[in-house]
Amino acid sequence: MTPEAYAEFLAVYLDEGTRFHHPGHLGHQIAAPDFPAALADLVHGAANNPMAAYEMGAAAATVEFEVVRWMLDKAGYGQAGGGVLTHGGSLANLTALLAARAAAVPDAWENGIPGDLALLAPESAHYSLTRAAAILGLGERAVVPLDTDSLGRIDVARLPEALDRVRRAGRRPMALVAAACATGTGLYDDLRRIGEFCAANGLWFHVDGAHGASALLAEGHRRLLDGVELADSLTWDAHKMLRTSSLAAAVLVRRGDALDAAFRQRASYLFYGDQGFDSIGRTVECSKAELGLKIFLNLAWRGERGLGEYVARQYATARRLWELARERPGFALPYEPESNIVCFRYGGGDQAAIREALTADGAFHLTSAEIGGVRHLRASVMAPATDDKTLHALLDRITELGG
Ligand SMILES: *Cc1c(COP(=O)(O)O)cnc(C)c1O
Repeated sequence: MTPEAYAEFLAVYLDEGTRFHHPGHLGHQIAAPDFPAALADLVHGAANNPMAAYEMGAAAATVEFEVVRWMLDKAGYGQAGGGVLTHGGSLANLTALLAARAAAVPDAWENGIPGDLALLAPESAHYSLTRAAAILGLGERAVVPLDTDSLGRIDVARLPEALDRVRRAGRRPMALVAAACATGTGLYDDLRRIGEFCAANGLWFHVDGAHGASALLAEGHRRLLDGVELADSLTWDAHKMLRTSSLAAAVLVRRGDALDAAFRQRASYLFYGDQGFDSIGRTVECSKAELGLKIFLNLAWRGERGLGEYVARQYATARRLWELARERPGFALPYEPESNIVCFRYGGGDQAAIREALTADGAFHLTSAEIGGVRHLRASVMAPATDDKTLHALLDRITELGG
């Protein structure tokens, strides 16, 4: 391939791809990466310093250590906490539940798990949690659905009943999972009350904040995560609301030793003991990428305030979409959005058909989600370029298509 051919190839390649920087990208929760993170990808792509073992990438390991420390501080865990960056929230959830498993059954690593463990989670929980239960050997059927309200939020008043049910069935609850926020609706669970319930009942409390934990940086929205400091573990994706490329996520734990206990592996050629910031004893991955650099450079360039302002702006744009749709006839909106995710219906027809027609147009990309068994259109406002003009044009087009 010559440079000229490469230019031609690249033009076609990008044209056929998905434009996550486009204002009409309101589909999946994928960041329009900020340019410092893109530079970090270039540095990593060329220097390639995998860093789970300190001696393979001392600078990258040091940067990850500091990034994790910053995130721990934001989550309210402080010095006693611990964490590691992973390639994505699914792996972070798996890692957190591995730590929960080690806490419930300390010899599970050596002897495998008993058949009575249970995982308490609402049906609205991200599918990676059920998967993690299956991967960890609990089996999908060990996931006990928690009662929720009509929007899929955990019904805190009915938690004692659920725990009773699990115990009477002879099962040992390994962990309880709450969302901050839920993937489908973008709504936050009541972390403080759930956390207090878990603490009172000796339950491992995992908060899946893959999408919404970044609201910790936005002054006006931090209250949505009130009580997150009670969680035993927290998943926080940077490639959603901290504008890095995929994937860069954190699994954070309130007590750092809980992560060490999760992995009891010994590999004599890698585990030498303390040499520096060795995260290899805390992660599934071996030749792990320089994930910390992407987060660090975005943070260094925009500042904590800048990152928080991005989150606040996206949340405000979603709210604006909700307001504008509410003013128009034919739109039904089941709840006021708490994040940058909004669900709605237009007319009484097939919402999937509206979505498909929009996708075929190519000007807008929406997803869809079921709420209470009813399919809704779903917008997640990720691109900084999405503005009022975009929102009006979207609603106009949906009105044309659905009418
Ligand atoms: C996106 C998401 C995940 C999965 O994260 P990946 O980084 O895509 O693996 C898990 N939980 C929630 C709540 C999410 O929004």
